[in-house]
Amino acid sequence: MSETLIEEFGRKPFLVLVACLLSLRSRDTVTINACRELFSKAQTPETLLAIPLHQLEQILYKVNFYKRKSALLKQVSQYLITVHHGLVPHTQQELLAIKGVGLKTASLVLSEAFLQPALCVDTHVHRISNRLGWVHTKTADQTEHELKKIVPQHYWRLINHYLVMWGQNICTPLSPKCSLCPLAQHLCPRIGVTISR
Ligand code: SF4
Repeated sequence: MSETLIEEFGRKPFLVLVACLLSLRSRDTVTINACRELFSKAQTPETLLAIPLHQLEQILYKVNFYKRKSALLKQVSQYLITVHHGLVPHTQQELLAIKGVGLKTASLVLSEAFLQPALCVDTHVHRISNRLGWVHTKTADQTEHELKKIVPQHYWRLINHYLVMWGQNICTPLSPKCSLCPLAQHLCPRIGVTISR
C-alpha cells in the first residue's frame, strides 16, 4: 500500500504517516482510495486541519472506524504543528509520542518515509515468521524484537515487503496454500498450521 502511494504522491513523511494510521484494520484497497481522495485535498498538517471534520469524515467514510480516524488525524496534525513545526519526526521515540502511533506504524514510517533500517512487523510478518519457526512469539512487538536479533539489518526493510506479499497471496491467515509453496517441502515446519490447501 505505502509503495503504491509513494509512487503516486512521492516519499512524503506526512502522507506515509496518514496512510499508516488509516490502514489499521482496513483493507489496502479501501485505504489507498481514501488516501487518494484525501491527498488531492490535503498533503500537510495545516491543510488537513483546515478541512472541516464532517467533510473529512465524508472523505474517509469507507475506511473502518472512519469517525475515530478522522478525529485522530486532526489531533495528530495539530500535534505535529505544535510540537514539530508541522513536520513528521524521524526517531522512533518521537514517533511513538504521537497519539495513535504504535511500534508498527513508527517502524513503517521510519522505513518507508525516511528509508531508515526499521523492521515493520504487521500481522503477515508476525504470522509467517512463527509458521517458519524463525521466532516463537505471541505478539507482533515480540516478533519485531526477536527478528531483529536474527535478520541482518540490510534485510529489515525488505522483509516486510516480501512477507506481506507472501501473506496476502500464499501464506494466508486461515488456510495457507502450502501445496503451491516452494518452502513447504524442506524449509517450513508449518508451525501452528492445522488446515492448508
Ligand atoms: S509452507 Fe505453508 S505455512 Fe509454510 S510458508 Fe509456505 S504457505 Fe506458509
